[in-house]
Amino acid sequence: MSYISLIIPVYNEQESIDIFYHAVIPLLERESYDFELIFVDDGSRDATLAILHRLHDADPRVRIVSLSRNFGKEYALTAGLYYASGDAVIPMDVDLQDPPELITTFLRHWEQGADMVIGVRENRDTDGRLKRWTAALFYRVFRRMTHDMIEDNAGDFRLMSRRVVDSLLRLPESVRFNKGLYGWVGFSRVLVPYTRPARAAGTGKWPGWKLWNFALDGITSFSTFPLRLWSYLGGLIALTGFAYAVLIFVRTVLYGVDVPGYASLMVVVLTLGGLILISLGIIGEYLGRVFEEVKRRPPFIVRELVGLEDKKRD
Ligand code: UDP
Ligand code: MG
Repeated sequence: MSYISLIIPVYNEQESIDIFYHAVIPLLERESYDFELIFVDDGSRDATLAILHRLHDADPRVRIVSLSRNFGKEYALTAGLYYASGDAVIPMDVDLQDPPELITTFLRHWEQGADMVIGVRENRDTDGRLKRWTAALFYRVFRRMTHDMIEDNAGDFRLMSRRVVDSLLRLPESVRFNKGLYGWVGFSRVLVPYTRPARAAGTGKWPGWKLWNFALDGITSFSTFPLRLWSYLGGLIALTGFAYAVLIFVRTVLYGVDVPGYASLMVVVLTLGGLILISLGIIGEYLGRVFEEVKRRPPFIVRELVGLEDKKRD
């Protein structure tokens, strides 16, 4: 019989875990599949891990991967994918922003042969205006740069078949932008629209700066356009500069040296200096990530496995 794995990354979520558990279990029990709930404790500092242990003692279908520190949601998810043994795997947030009822819909599409069933947010009314605006901008830029590698407004909430998960696990990179990786591996996909409710309990864990870095990770992992842009811009500026040089040369020959020119000189120096610094910065963004990759560090470190000991790997 087929087996379903839910992967739930949790970071300081003591208020949400029980609510989540009681919302999801009745839904899963209605299905004819066996299932496991893999909670990935992402280095929580509150009672999260204790609550998970209590749940596991009462219900062995609850399994725990406890990471050695806070690695971030992308890495917690990667750890979950690694230890999940389901024929279908569903990553979910613990705050019930990913509506559990959708699992039923996901499973029906999967039974009909879909390899990836993706929850797509219909609107972003529960987000603030700034988040909505920056998210829209990110999706536009990312899709343009990567030729539609990701779906608009799709997060991690989705169902993936075993072969999708196995393909994801074969990708060796240590900087992991899962949304992009899901798209990169391909396979057939079905979109399921849903409305995202507000958080059930606890607080959001993605301050603006973290989101900005997340966006940079995404773009730099999937597009080299920002790097290549500078050759074109540089070419254009060099051409303009050359034309200007010819103009100045001719003018000097015809009318002699004119000393004023401080303003234009400053403008050129400052603009070029700024552009050079920006381009160096972008090279730095990529170089930093190349550095991360060549170190070949594992994407996460496990402190403790509960209910998954037989899956211990090196
Ligand atoms: N999360 C995590 N590690 C982190 C930050 C968040 O595992 O460093 C988990 C968090 O516990 C939750 C999910 O990722 O289950 C989504 O987090 P959150 O609700 O804060 O994000 P948002 O809904 O704002 O995207
Ligand atoms: Mg949330």
